[in-house]
Amino acid sequence: MSEKVGFIGLGIMGQGMARNLLKAGFSVCAWNRTSSKTEALVAEGAQAGKSPADVAAQCDIIITCVSDTPDVEAVILGEEGVIQGAKAGSLVIDCSTISPQATRAIAEQLAAKGIHMLDAPISGGSEGAAKGTLTIMIGGAPEDVERAMPVFKAMGKTITHIGENGAGQTVKLVNQVLVVGNCLAMCEALLLAQAGGVDLQKTFDAISQGAAGSWMFTNRAPQIIRRDWRPGFTIDLQQKDLRLVLDAADELGVPVPATSLIFNLYRTLEAKGLGGDGNHALVKALENLAGFEVGKAQ
Ligand code: NAP
Repeated sequence: MSEKVGFIGLGIMGQGMARNLLKAGFSVCAWNRTSSKTEALVAEGAQAGKSPADVAAQCDIIITCVSDTPDVEAVILGEEGVIQGAKAGSLVIDCSTISPQATRAIAEQLAAKGIHMLDAPISGGSEGAAKGTLTIMIGGAPEDVERAMPVFKAMGKTITHIGENGAGQTVKLVNQVLVVGNCLAMCEALLLAQAGGVDLQKTFDAISQGAAGSWMFTNRAPQIIRRDWRPGFTIDLQQKDLRLVLDAADELGVPVPATSLIFNLYRTLEAKGLGGDGNHALVKALENLAGFEVGKAQ
């Protein structure tokens, strides 16, 4: 019989991931801070836990997918956290994007109670979470990765064990440098197309499958053209990740000029109260500099 899976954090990503575990036949017990978000999942066959500790007490493998480092610390190490309920031998899998250093510290605290941990941050956006095609970057012991593989396969497609605890998070930060670099390139390109007076949809059709193509361009350029700012990934969370990148680069002495620039461009949007927009709204920062908008008649 497969292991029972706990799921903590049913946000944009967690909803889809937990649903795919149910679809794959896992018995799932879920908890979300805002309890209304568990309702849809319970209607599809999940159980609702009373707290992270309660979920952990009922499950063998406990997945967390919450926002930031302090949030992971709260749901795993807090008063009603996973550590208070988990049995020795349980496996905690953190799919949030957080600090590699903090990840190693959390893993050590869990290990002191005989609880195993993998960091398994994800990429692929809300679309990847819903379709079960996430990219998963894993840090931790090989035997724990092997144990978790059926769970990973239910949620993702490209599953890579990188190294020890923290290694998954380090690769996720590398991933984020590419995500925002691609995002800025997309925004500049669409601004140029707009200024050049060419049809934006035809521009997209002509180049998205060529050498200039990217996940970002394929999935988010159509949203920009429609001026649809609904988030697959919010600017606030993007900034959280860029802070982690800038901290790691500072610690390691690595120059990351483009990432710093993009962090500051996003900051101008946060200052305007746009932190809840999707990360492709980066184009608005360039529009503010250019004095015209993409997708609107000039
Ligand atoms: P989201 O929609 O904002 O959801 C965040 C989730 O975390 C919600 O369930 C929220 O609960 C919970 N949460 C936050 N702080 C908490 C706390 N202190 N205690 C308990 N629960 C807490 O975010 P998301 O897009 O799903 O992202 C989740 C994680 O995946 C983040 O680390 C993000 O960086 C990463 N990620 C996201 C994407 C993406 O495209 N969206 C892609 C890759 C990785 P409430 O419902 O109560 O607010």
